[in-house]
Amino acid sequence: MTETVIELKDVTRTFMISAGAFRAKRPLHAVNGVSLTIKRGEVIGLVGESGCGKTTLARMMLGLLPATGGDIRIEGLPVETLDRLAIARMLQPIFQDPYSSLNPRKSVGSIIALPLKVQNDPDPASWRQRVEQIMELVGLPSRLYQNYPNQLSGGQRQRVAIARALINNPQVVICDEPTSALDVSVQSQILNLLQDLRRELGLTYVLISHNLAVVEHIATRVAVMYLGRVVEEAETETLFANPRHPYTQALLTSVLTPEPGLGVPDTHLGATFPNPVDPPSGCTFHPRCAQALAHCPRVIPTMTHVGETWVECHLYNGSLRKVS
Ligand code: SF4
Repeated sequence: MTETVIELKDVTRTFMISAGAFRAKRPLHAVNGVSLTIKRGEVIGLVGESGCGKTTLARMMLGLLPATGGDIRIEGLPVETLDRLAIARMLQPIFQDPYSSLNPRKSVGSIIALPLKVQNDPDPASWRQRVEQIMELVGLPSRLYQNYPNQLSGGQRQRVAIARALINNPQVVICDEPTSALDVSVQSQILNLLQDLRRELGLTYVLISHNLAVVEHIATRVAVMYLGRVVEEAETETLFANPRHPYTQALLTSVLTPEPGLGVPDTHLGATFPNPVDPPSGCTFHPRCAQALAHCPRVIPTMTHVGETWVECHLYNGSLRKVS
């Protein structure tokens, strides 16, 4: 059995964006040359601000969006050679909003059983039993089998979404902000459930979140994304103890402290998030970087291995790639 479950090599996704009437469309590089290797059993956290490309990357892994460049392999197979059902057997998503991701007209039982139906499972007589087993596994009482989503709490709905994702025994679950729509009191229950399920079922998670506390709690490795690129990647402990990239340092500074009276910390991100259709030259982070060097606006940094971390920043003497 291969150790690598998903491999991304120099993956790009470009959208052509309308620039107005009578004007040529312009390219938006939502994902711009991302390489990642996801190993079996790990939890890789993808973090970054809205618009940095994390969800686009996840949609490409799920086969919902074709890449415009590079190579995506699932279990060693190019994603474009796999049909949607084959990908769905290996990878399943859990979306952030359990209020909109469940069909309000279907009962809990039929929502969870839907993937069995879609995959033409050959044993319909066993579906009810299997649904009740998975309900028990995710902490849903079987008496809710005939209930509808509007009769459930937010936490119960997210458990239904998790049960639906797991009913066909996928190897990888892509969790896109799995707790951000839930009350704080319920968030930790769902995170603990995801942890337990991972241990019990040997799952691999891709965890997309802008909540660094959630990522630190669950992820084993973290990739920080900025304007479509991974700018830093390391084991979670290493990254949180010693962030290298100025953007990662700013993100960690921005985490609110529970200390009363300290207020909202200064992120040191001077300028606002740039327009991805017209990204800054050189290092795209340079207009916001407190440590920018003279050549940062002109020269694109390349990935450099520093200690236990991969980082894309001139501060670490990466080889220089000139802007053409
Ligand atoms: Fe800052 Fe330069 Fe590093 Fe970019 S390459 S993060 S501008 S120091």
